[in-house]
Amino acid sequence: MAELSALQQPYYEATTLQQIEQLFPVRLSKELLSDFKFDHPVLKQYLPDARELINPDGYGEDPVGDREATSAGGLLKKYQHRALLITTNTCPVHCRYCFRKDYPYSRETPNQHRYETALAAVKKDHSLNEIILSGGDPLSLDDDLLSYLFTSLAAIEHIQTVRVHTKFPSIYPQRVTDALLSILATTRLNTVVVLHINHPDEITASVKYAAEQIKHTNTTTLNQAVLLRDVNDATDTLAELSHRLFSAGILPYYLHLLDKARGTHHFHVERARAEIIMQQLKQRLPGYLVPKLAQELSGHASKDY
Ligand code: SF4
Repeated sequence: MAELSALQQPYYEATTLQQIEQLFPVRLSKELLSDFKFDHPVLKQYLPDARELINPDGYGEDPVGDREATSAGGLLKKYQHRALLITTNTCPVHCRYCFRKDYPYSRETPNQHRYETALAAVKKDHSLNEIILSGGDPLSLDDDLLSYLFTSLAAIEHIQTVRVHTKFPSIYPQRVTDALLSILATTRLNTVVVLHINHPDEITASVKYAAEQIKHTNTTTLNQAVLLRDVNDATDTLAELSHRLFSAGILPYYLHLLDKARGTHHFHVERARAEIIMQQLKQRLPGYLVPKLAQELSGHASKDY
């Protein structure tokens, strides 16, 4: 973990940094700080910014209606046939645009006892066929706890697929351990890993290797990106992202419009501009490399495209 003092940028007062830190602690790795210069778009995702203290109308603490959709044990159900389990509050980095930065994680401790409550609800609900392990980042859990979750879900007859939403392989590729690969390879469930890579330069040789290892477990490997101003809001950048993802065996899945979480407005890209970028991507890339432009709106029965 990087020291906070190392993030002090010349144009920030120390007090500004402290205020930001109180609202959403800074978390990024030493590797990220050494691999990228301060003004590189990759680092902009994780470095604190004084603009986080400004909140225009429409930006709030629960931008996609997670709180209302969450039931006992941290099970979140918004859409038909699938539910999402908040497995943990821990992430390998804190993305400054995070849509769950204000989620009330204190009640969602990562332990077997809480999971039992959620698993009982999954067992009871025969409409479900897919469970999404999310968080925080589910790969923050140790492999024993992950194995417990996979085994428990596999024991529920109506569950066919487990999906893991994770940033770990692109931040700490060494988290893709033999034990994790074995969990993915041996479950009876269909397995899907959805990575969260926003910029082509995040796909280093070791990230590519980790993604290939995951794919070799017969896991479908997808990527969801968020369209972020000054990070990836350019057709060239996103086209390159799709190509590099594909070279690593990962298919582009979603390109999300920003969720209007508190302190994120400086990342916002207007939908009209996003649609122009998408049009250019469609002209430039084969269809299988074009992600779907998606937006999650509170209370809607599906994502909007
Ligand atoms: S990895 Fe996901 S949950 Fe964690 S900080 Fe980033 S956007 Fe938020």
